[in-house]
Amino acid sequence: MVVKAPKVGDHISTLDTPSMIVDLDVMEANIAKLFKQLLPTGINIRPHSKTTKSAILAQKLVDAGAKGGCVAKLSEAEVMCEKGFTDLLITCEIIGAPKVQRLVELFRKYKSIRIVVDSEVGARAIDDALGKSGIEESITTLIDLDVGLHRTGVQPGEPALELANVVQSCKHLNLIGVQGYEGHLQHLHGHEERKQECLKSMAILTQTAEALRKAGHNIEVVTTGGTGTAEFCVTVPGVTEVQPGSFLFMDTDYRNAVGSFYQHSLFILSTILSKQGPKIITIDAGLKSLTTDSGFAECKTLGYTYGVLGDEHGSLSWEDDALELKIGDRVEMVPSHIDPTINLHDFYYAHRKGVIEEIWPVDARGKVQ
Ligand code: PLP
Ligand code: MN
Repeated sequence: MVVKAPKVGDHISTLDTPSMIVDLDVMEANIAKLFKQLLPTGINIRPHSKTTKSAILAQKLVDAGAKGGCVAKLSEAEVMCEKGFTDLLITCEIIGAPKVQRLVELFRKYKSIRIVVDSEVGARAIDDALGKSGIEESITTLIDLDVGLHRTGVQPGEPALELANVVQSCKHLNLIGVQGYEGHLQHLHGHEERKQECLKSMAILTQTAEALRKAGHNIEVVTTGGTGTAEFCVTVPGVTEVQPGSFLFMDTDYRNAVGSFYQHSLFILSTILSKQGPKIITIDAGLKSLTTDSGFAECKTLGYTYGVLGDEHGSLSWEDDALELKIGDRVEMVPSHIDPTINLHDFYYAHRKGVIEEIWPVDARGKVQ
């Protein structure tokens, strides 16, 4: 007998597990909330597809009002471009000969991609490679600035200015702006503290942008922000673009930090495999289905506590007042960190009230280069 693949119109109760399911009503409400809050400010929204790794979802966000999208890695950009989504900012530095060569080949086909640089050596390597490629056009480039995350980014002040001068001197790089991502603040608990810290990072970013302009550089784009800070970034004069990603689906880590303005819309559907005691059972979702870097996943139904039992298994235990779970029952698990969890799955099964309406591949799954 041929096993039928899940299809549109099926009920999620017919899915094999573990499966990644999306509640469309909630996801659409999250999108509507974001655009309602941010679009009236006139800011560009360039959502980050590091979360979804999906060209279909990137396009849905453009349909809702976004201008382009971001990816973290070059290999994600390759996949998204092949799928037809080409207005992309690659937010990680592109370093090393193999990657630079891949960038040249991607740029040969897709002139709309944007890159960031944070070092002279990085900028010159790309400039040299483009020079040798015979490509006429210069690649749209932003200076990546450290606004407090201390991950990547040139330091503000003199180092940023020196790098801008270098980029300016590179024939094949076209400087258009500055990126400064305040990732260290996204999960800061407390609305007011997050706001104040964010405003400090935004001051570094916008003052640097202004200093570069004063020195004669073309700084049209000032891009920043994530789910936890975009609402503050958009209030700062000089910021032109925000890059939120996780708001579509959320996760427990984000909810614990920023609250429930955006709600959980993505769950890992899991089956109870075994009963290990009166109030503890084993499910088929372990480390290969749910990541644990940001704590353990939660059961969507309150009253059950998840524990990891290895690569393929997890436990759910409960107190007296929770309903007994039995072998064959199903539960929906809420990921603790959405981006790496999605990267563990092949498809999203997007449903409304249990009926699958759309199936989206995780196009850039595993694309970490
Ligand atoms: N921009 C950059 C450069 C990022 O690295 C990230 C996430 O790590 C984001 C934006 C999106 O952040 P979030 O998923 O928290 O909304
Ligand atoms: Mn993340």
